Amino acid sequence: MLAGAIDGGGTKVMTGIVDDSGKILSSRTESVPPKDVAAYFNRCAAMLKDCAAEIGVTLDKLDGVGMSIPGMTDGKDWVYGSPSAGWGSFSALSLLVPALGLPAEKIRLENDINACALAELRFGGGGRDFVWLTISTGNGGAVVANGELVRGKSFCAGELGHIKVEYDHPVRCGCGGYGCLEAHASGPAIARMCREVGLDTDAAGCAALCRQGDKRALSVYKTAGMYLGRALAQLANMLNFEKAYLGGGVSRSLDLLMPSLRETFDRDALPECRKAIIERTHLGYEASLLGAASLVFGRQSERD
Ligand SMILES: [Zn+2]
Repeated sequence: MLAGAIDGGGTKVMTGIVDDSGKILSSRTESVPPKDVAAYFNRCAAMLKDCAAEIGVTLDKLDGVGMSIPGMTDGKDWVYGSPSAGWGSFSALSLLVPALGLPAEKIRLENDINACALAELRFGGGGRDFVWLTISTGNGGAVVANGELVRGKSFCAGELGHIKVEYDHPVRCGCGGYGCLEAHASGPAIARMCREVGLDTDAAGCAALCRQGDKRALSVYKTAGMYLGRALAQLANMLNFEKAYLGGGVSRSLDLLMPSLRETFDRDALPECRKAIIERTHLGYEASLLGAASLVFGRQSERD
């Protein structure tokens, strides 16, 4: 089986042809300005057609096309807005059907972090009960319970970045609230904490300083890890998940976050719930692309 996959990031798009073992047979990556939604979707389709041509097929020969969206979607047609891309509500199929030249039933959509969780389910570490949390520009999340993605009434479930982790000295979040995980443990939050201790660097620079033994840098990662531990413990008590997978650029420094993360988690989670494994995603940079592909394979297996 072959899927066309589009990872529609806020500014960066990756497309690929993926087989059902998770092998990426061809791929393209470009920065595509998201402002003009129709032009953005047309460019995604053109990139995917190039990927197909590279391996000598056309899109109609694929089992379908999946696309991950950097925002809320009903998983069928409608996108309900994307803060990172600056999109409002629109019908994605009305753009994708003509751009790809495929019937609607061969096209599937999913929120990008939900897609990452589906990729973890199919191609990564697996599990029936797990959460997926990014530590990146923001803290996106997804919840899989009983082997199924939890979507919620308005497709807004799994917004783990807005779990409140700080009440005494809360920082304002992009959502307008205060004390959210995203305001205290994302990449930009780590950069902010660096400035507060007199370090002019970003999350990656801070990690490098940690590895040189810089005490201020170590204190920043310790604090971020503590907040992640608070959020995950609340989730664990609610969901009793088996695993928490951490992805996103900052998760490359998970070893620096883990001591305070685990200490906080073990203190705040109930004894049964604290048995959870917390680890880095088994997927790499292409997690969201593989998730987009898994939408096609998942659908096929439902049909069989
Ligand atoms: Zn928030």
